[in-house]
Amino acid sequence: MKRFKTKQIFVGNIAVGGDAPISVQSMTFSKTKDIKATKEQIDRLTFVGCDIVRVAVSDEEDAKALKMLKSQISLPLVADIHFRYKLALIALESVDCIRINPGNIGSKDRIAQIAKGCNERKIPIRIGVNAGSLEKQFEQKYGATPEGMVESALYNIKLLEDCGFDNIKISLKASDVERTIKAYRILRPLVDYPFHIGVTEAGSLYHSMIKSSMALGNLLLDGIGDTMRVSITGELEEEIKVAKAILKYSGRQKEGITIISCPTCGRIEADLSSAIKIVEERLKHIKKPLQISVMGCAVNAIGEAKHADIAIAFGNKSGLIIKKGEILCKLPEDKILDVFLQEVEQLAEES
Ligand code: SF4
Repeated sequence: MKRFKTKQIFVGNIAVGGDAPISVQSMTFSKTKDIKATKEQIDRLTFVGCDIVRVAVSDEEDAKALKMLKSQISLPLVADIHFRYKLALIALESVDCIRINPGNIGSKDRIAQIAKGCNERKIPIRIGVNAGSLEKQFEQKYGATPEGMVESALYNIKLLEDCGFDNIKISLKASDVERTIKAYRILRPLVDYPFHIGVTEAGSLYHSMIKSSMALGNLLLDGIGDTMRVSITGELEEEIKVAKAILKYSGRQKEGITIISCPTCGRIEADLSSAIKIVEERLKHIKKPLQISVMGCAVNAIGEAKHADIAIAFGNKSGLIIKKGEILCKLPEDKILDVFLQEVEQLAEES
């Protein structure tokens, strides 16, 4: 699958762009100056496989807390700063990347100071364009449109490039799918900086999952995106879980089990929705890429099983296990699920 070739940068020890794996990010919601609470959230994110974490820096106390916070965590740390260049100057001493919009920082001298500091520490700047907060000149000319977002990004890129700074990644976020996709698609051929992709203010789990899957799924299939965040009003862990699923189903990451399960119909011979929950829960630790199929009856099982590494097909008081397209065994209904799970574990060990 093709991927747009971008310049590679580093956020801490995580490569972003080029041929690096597409990394997954999230953001804490505690006050950053509350180091204990922020660290707890970062630990939760680390545990579920987040690659890069961002924290809000709203005042000097937040900025000064970054040094201590950084010493207590293992994830690369990004400081998110709006308007106040002095906070950026404090933050860049401790973090692995800063997110600003140079156009909101003020005079060229202030931008130059930030660029110089980041250059000295070899840390990148993420230009974070957001449709809801475009600079006045672009808002007036284009409104909150993809064209306005792209003009803002190009303007901000030039401000940094004029300071001799090119350690840059870019995000172009809107709260809806269409503008998000369009903005990234317009900008992609114009620059070779890596892109951080995401839909902003995407809503609660259900809504964000749909919006993010549509927007990020489309972009990833276009070969666009080097690092990503799924924004969810909800639990931090869900952001990582959904992001990893989007990467998997868009073919950008192979890790873990992919389950094919039938939608069920009147021919069903088992409680498939309970069976699927058990299968997902018991196999979620497996990292090897395996395709498994769980079918409610034998009608389509043999055909589907040809595309799966291993399959289970429930039947009347019994079921079949099919491995690599061949029937492995027929077992009574009270034994079939346990044996199937053991077989999947064994297959994961062998592969
Ligand atoms: S596998 Fe069987 S139960 Fe499931 S949808 Fe197909 S025919 Fe219906």
